[in-house]
Amino acid sequence: MSNDNLHIAVIGSGGSAMAAALKSAERGARVTLIERGTLGGTCVNVGCVPSKIMIRAAHVAHMRRASPFDEGIAAVEPYIDRPRLLAQQQARVDELRHAKYEGILEDNPAITVLRGEARFTDANTLTVTGTDGTEREVRFDRAFIGTGAGPTIPPVPGLPDTPYWTSTTALDSNTIPDRLVVIGASVVAVELAQAFSRLGSEVTILARSRLFSREDPAVGEAIETAFQAEGIKVLNNTQASQIRYTNEEFVLATAGGRGTYTEHRQAEPGGYRRRDCPQGDFSR
Ligand SMILES: Cc1cc2nc3c(=O)[nH]c(=O)nc-3n(C[C@H](O)[C@H](O)[C@H](O)COP(=O)(O)OP(=O)(O)OC[C@H]3O[C@@H](n4cnc5c(N)ncnc54)[C@H](O)[C@@H]3O)c2cc1C
Repeated sequence: MSNDNLHIAVIGSGGSAMAAALKSAERGARVTLIERGTLGGTCVNVGCVPSKIMIRAAHVAHMRRASPFDEGIAAVEPYIDRPRLLAQQQARVDELRHAKYEGILEDNPAITVLRGEARFTDANTLTVTGTDGTEREVRFDRAFIGTGAGPTIPPVPGLPDTPYWTSTTALDSNTIPDRLVVIGASVVAVELAQAFSRLGSEVTILARSRLFSREDPAVGEAIETAFQAEGIKVLNNTQASQIRYTNEEFVLATAGGRGTYTEHRQAEPGGYRRRDCPQGDFSR
């Protein structure tokens, strides 16, 4: 079968799905792209883009507080207006989503966008449940699953009953908490920990082993030293064993290398898990 006759179903609309859809269309295929959430997926909406904007703002705040040029440019304690920072961040996200995703999809006649949740009903059929509950069948020759990943919630007793944050809610928050506990010690957790610290939170990171445990130990050690200099507390070999939320505060108990540790903090789980595409009966 030539590409001209192929109908390709693409599930998701993040970076991977967009690449698959655009390349398929460029090669002559007809494409149906299905998205159940916000067009653009994680990176532009709740991932790379908003986090890098927040981190850049935090860096500017940090440089106003202390920089190598303080002898010639007086350091000042910056005033942080988080609602205005958030509005600026969201405006840029909306602009980039339109430029890199929505606009490109609208302008490509070979790609049809369906809004809803896709699930396989057989090897060549998807059922798409729209936001209004209506169901629609999509027959295809090839399917690309670009369903991405979502935050993992660690199985800490008590956590589900608290208003904890994930990276998504943290990036969308109008406030900078006075005190923040970050559970997790890999990239997303660590970069957000530093951003919140530089914007005014007193931050403690709980690392199950150490920072960046999958990298060379020198990487985690160097970052831990830099974090200590910035006032970020890193508790290595420490896991949350119990969390509760009372009087608008989190009470977190940890059991780890340093014994039991209890503090009042806001919790933000780190970590990501693969998002599977829901499957119905699927027989080849
Ligand atoms: C806070 C944060 C910061 C990050 N920073 C960076 C960074 O600086 N650099 C970097 O390279 N990466 C970064 N990442 C990771 C990056 O965002 C992801 O790796 C990337 O977005 C994954 O793209 P994807 O296309 O695989 O999936 P996603 O972008 O997650 O898209 C999957 C899409 O599939 C949709 N979907 C899922 N199931 C279905 C279904 N059944 N039917 C229809 N639609 C469905 C979802 O709604 C979603 O829109 C960051 C992530 C986070 C959370």
